[in-house]
Amino acid sequence: MTLHDAHNRTIRDLRISVTDRCNFRCFYCLPNGEPPLARKDTILTFEEIARLSEIFVSLGIEKIRLTGGEPMLRKGIVTLVEQLASLKPRLKDLALTTNGQSFPENGAELKAAGLDRVTISLDSLNADRFREITGVDAIYKPLAAIEAAKEYAFEPVKVNAVIVRGRNDDELVDFARFARENALSFRFIEFMPLDSGHGWSREMVVPGREMRERINSVYPLKLKETSRGTGTSWKYVFADGSPGEIGIIAPVTEMFCGQCSRIRLTADGQIRTCLFSTTEHNLRDVLRSGARSEEIAQFIRGVVMKKEPRHYINDPEFIQPARTMSFIGG
Ligand code: SAM
Repeated sequence: MTLHDAHNRTIRDLRISVTDRCNFRCFYCLPNGEPPLARKDTILTFEEIARLSEIFVSLGIEKIRLTGGEPMLRKGIVTLVEQLASLKPRLKDLALTTNGQSFPENGAELKAAGLDRVTISLDSLNADRFREITGVDAIYKPLAAIEAAKEYAFEPVKVNAVIVRGRNDDELVDFARFARENALSFRFIEFMPLDSGHGWSREMVVPGREMRERINSVYPLKLKETSRGTGTSWKYVFADGSPGEIGIIAPVTEMFCGQCSRIRLTADGQIRTCLFSTTEHNLRDVLRSGARSEEIAQFIRGVVMKKEPRHYINDPEFIQPARTMSFIGG
């Protein structure tokens, strides 16, 4: 069984936001603090997430990434991981994206519960700069999480940095060095118009090509695979054979919608077929109406058929989605 959209794409990748709460205030995401949070009774319970995930997997979803908000703020996250891991081997990959919050304390349990991979966000290697970017004096959190992820053998340890011109693009080479020294898979992401303050501008975007060239001029890079497949990043290794990997994610300047295999489920149970969707599909109400699994599956199939052919960031009529990345689930 596979999930197809109307543009010949197969959907295999589901991102689930488990909470709309976040304890960071990254200027590119939540510069003005959290927007009003969803009412508690609208947030999907673990049982609901597990039931929906089972249906998604029966429809051909192979990868689930738990995100948020900050997913580690959701109490009992280990239990949810355990519930979702029971969907293996049909579910091939279970991952989590975090700012490092309480990961060192919970990493071993998450691993034992069946979490396959973790991605940790780290937007600066400098403590003062980190505070300016995230609004919290807590660089120790992602750094400790990276150490813990290595210790608990999450392979490879992935790190994300959103690169914004004039804010942290002078650290590109430092990040690459950090990746080499710590054998990390480091992902550089273009700034996307998903910030609550609507402060995004094209001038702030550092194009993926420029990021690659600036790293390559100091640490020569070799393309790892000639195809990106359905992944989001072009992956590079260091030409001198040093450990670590560089990934460049350039959704703004090198759109990859034609290969998109992703859909998203928000914490309050809405399906989003694109990060930039301006409409959402209320799966929670279908679920809570007492629908049978086949009816829920039918609803999901119908929604997937409506997946947008591409995003419209570069079109003059582009409208920024009302919900920010922290709500949608990055
Ligand atoms: N709290 C977790 C974290 O910090 O990784 C998970 C949620 S966060 C929304 C997921 C990812 O989205 C992070 O890597 C973050 O840097 C990225 N992100 C948030 N806003 C973004 C934006 N406007 N453009 C590009 N990436 C963004």
